[in-house]
Amino acid sequence: MLTKEAVLDVLSGIEDPELGKPLTELDMVKSIDIDGGDVTVGINLTVAGCPMKARIKDDIVRGVTHIEGVESVNVVFDVMSDEERQRLKEKLGHGTAAAAQAGTELNFAKRFIAVASGKGGVGKSTITTNIAVALARLGHKVGLLDADVYGFSIPHMLGVSGQPTIIDDKIVPIRKGDNLQVISMGFFVNPDDPVIWRGPLLHKAINQFLSDVMWDDLDFLFLDLPPGTGDVTLTIAQSIPSAELLVVTTPQSTATHVVGRVARLAEKTNLAVIGVIENMAYFETNGKKEYIFGKDGGKLLAERLGVSFLGEIPLTTSLRESSDTGHPPATDGTPEQIALFEKLARAIEQMHH
Ligand code: ADP
Repeated sequence: MLTKEAVLDVLSGIEDPELGKPLTELDMVKSIDIDGGDVTVGINLTVAGCPMKARIKDDIVRGVTHIEGVESVNVVFDVMSDEERQRLKEKLGHGTAAAAQAGTELNFAKRFIAVASGKGGVGKSTITTNIAVALARLGHKVGLLDADVYGFSIPHMLGVSGQPTIIDDKIVPIRKGDNLQVISMGFFVNPDDPVIWRGPLLHKAINQFLSDVMWDDLDFLFLDLPPGTGDVTLTIAQSIPSAELLVVTTPQSTATHVVGRVARLAEKTNLAVIGVIENMAYFETNGKKEYIFGKDGGKLLAERLGVSFLGEIPLTTSLRESSDTGHPPATDGTPEQIALFEKLARAIEQMHH
């Protein structure tokens, strides 16, 4: 039957695509008017020119049309007042103003895991992305912060793009599915423009990604660090002293200097190293494993650092291809790949910190 309650019921099942919460919960439903079989729904957008306007309208029309007795559905848009927006921000706000003040630890995620490597090109971003995807698949709320500001590749690997909406001074992360939120410098710059950061600016950008992003209450926030050691890791360690450090390596980049570098990084930042993952561990041809870059380098590194060895990932064409085309192998890959990343995700899930 066509009643306001019936319309509200439908609206409570429609989410704002960016904020990932029902319109009713976001106080976006301003009015519902019923005149015979004609329904007019008034929606309060968070920002004028919201890019998701058309989609919200379609969802409402499609949903409300199904109620018995409805002849036409009209959606009228308005924009929230400053006060309404402030209230919404408070409702959604995590890790915001108060927590961002110097000395207050961020706590919007249960665990913060920074992923480091001794050098570039070892597959750190690939592994970070797919472990995050695997944990989201297991039902966890996961955030992915691409702190590799020079070589950001996560949006591409996840197959997401677009410009995050900014509500006043807060950034709405891009969603992939229900459980994964992403923020990357790649959303804000032209991919062909060189990104040049000086120390203080870099520090500021990372802190903004931590404190000015409307992250959900997360189970995990993964931070994909730039290769090597350095400023970004120190910034993160200052803002999140409880962050954990996960190390990705290839078998051959485990020469002593890499061990030394990672160990020094952990020491300098006071972050706990939780484990080592070896990528490009071997290549399989005709059922035979070829250890192109040497064998057991990751295990050795883990031993020398005195931490757990979490697993090895083979070098495969399909892994490279699916990453390059925005289909993360942790969900879209072969059954072996899905199982592989699930195993790593479970190993991390089971650590207690
Ligand atoms: P990093 O973040 O360490 O610089 P990336 O994750 O960007 O490295 O990976 C570098 C390249 O190697 C990418 O093209 C990626 O698809 C590819 N790659 C990573 N891991 C594997 C693997 N196990 N098998 C095949 N290609 C891989």
